[in-house]
Amino acid sequence: MPELNTPTAPEAATASLPRFDDFGLAPPILQALAEQGYQYPTPIQAQAIPVVLQGRDVMGAAQTGTGKTAGFSLPIIQQLLPNANTSASPARHPVRALILTPTRELADQVAENVKSYSRHTPLRSAVVFGGIDMAPQTAALRAGVEILIATPGRLLDHVQQKTLNLSQTEIFVMDEADRMLDMGFLPDLQRIINLLPKQRQNLMFSATFSPEIKKLASSFLKNPQLIEVARSNATAERVTQIIYKVEEESKRDAVVHLLKQREIRQVIVFSNTKIGASRLARELERAGVKASAIHGDKTQAERMAALEAFKAGGIDVLVATDVAARGLDIAELPCVINYDLPYNAEDYVHRIGRTGRAGASGDALSLYCDKDARLLADIEKLIKQKLTPVELEDFQPRSARGERAERSDRGDRGDRQGDRYADRSERRTERAPRSTSAPMPRKEKVDPWFLKPYEPAAPAVPMEEKPVDPRNAKAAPKRAALLGGKSKT
Ligand code: AMP
Repeated sequence: MPELNTPTAPEAATASLPRFDDFGLAPPILQALAEQGYQYPTPIQAQAIPVVLQGRDVMGAAQTGTGKTAGFSLPIIQQLLPNANTSASPARHPVRALILTPTRELADQVAENVKSYSRHTPLRSAVVFGGIDMAPQTAALRAGVEILIATPGRLLDHVQQKTLNLSQTEIFVMDEADRMLDMGFLPDLQRIINLLPKQRQNLMFSATFSPEIKKLASSFLKNPQLIEVARSNATAERVTQIIYKVEEESKRDAVVHLLKQREIRQVIVFSNTKIGASRLARELERAGVKASAIHGDKTQAERMAALEAFKAGGIDVLVATDVAARGLDIAELPCVINYDLPYNAEDYVHRIGRTGRAGASGDALSLYCDKDARLLADIEKLIKQKLTPVELEDFQPRSARGERAERSDRGDRGDRQGDRYADRSERRTERAPRSTSAPMPRKEKVDPWFLKPYEPAAPAVPMEEKPVDPRNAKAAPKRAALLGGKSKT
């Protein structure tokens, strides 16, 4: 399940759930965890840590947001500790654990976590990913690191330049394996696996298990222990899902209505297209909502500014495409809105998994038009739950008031040039707004956004824990606790 499901102290006590010190983790690791503010292991951690400590291969079904990074990092650090040393000699600090991730952003997040968890040990870690100068990475590798976090392409660049030797790797982690395959990394992965010693421990994590993933797993995992906390297509129990039936041309008004009526603060609004995201953000701003779009056509600076402003509370609404939202360390949102129902039902689960985490209640509100019947049916089938569209209370769209729905084509020309796919889908909507939608082509595989380096975000904002009836129009606004580890090193 894509929720970070840490038990509360009373729950843990009554259910005698494991604690971090039950795993035999060394005091420097426990100290780091205490400083991070982690009290209890998440379900994936409770299962993975003992198995990884035994030296077994693992195939883990887990998504970002479940705490899986600590699930593999903590036992890795523990296993490397006996040979950790403070020698200045690079030869005494060979790469002993290699963690591969598909994107720079994830590599950076994992590296930040590993650094925090190992801060009181002599173990060294480094991260290498493309798109930035190789020189500082080369210097770090030459100085010697025991734990290396990398994206495949840049890792191979370093191997080619002979700044990296993987012959002493004892533990190999493949994180988000499904995305690695989606992004076409299979040949690189095979090359990297061939560079590793035959005798090693392998850990593979993936949100989904397609036949391709299973094939890859069987090619390099030895008798793996399957760790599955919950089915990846289960929706978070604490999330209240409401589907609002609206006219296609009233969707923007409906979002504004929902934001105002429910006094929503800090919400991600999901759009299926980049152009739709930009357009909606502009419309919301015109309606007096502090909004910003985040997608692949935005510059790094724009993207970071939007994210920081969102985390700091300067922006209430982040309008995002699925690909742009993935990998973002933003969780525990009080609400997400599906401006468009996603073309892939699994994306619905990922989207609503952003809310209702860590004991918080969350609302997943979706706008539904007649043409979305097929998409809704796919979602219902996946989550095994009936979602009946309801009317949006007290909503009077402009069209119903006799005003022409405002089109904002003038300002969108720039966006269209960079987004042919979005352009096609927009036209389809305009020509046949009421037809039953055929399955859309799968969205682009690699968003250029992921080809840009990621800078860590601001410290977490504490969550206001207020029970809210999501159907109550006057519900008190909630703010998100944005997960991201407490301290940065
Ligand atoms: P991950 O799924 O590894 O990306 O973790 C999601 C977020 O949960 C990260 O921001 C972590 O810092 C945080 N986290 C991981 N484990 C715990 C824990 N046991 N207690 C509280 N927060 C955690």
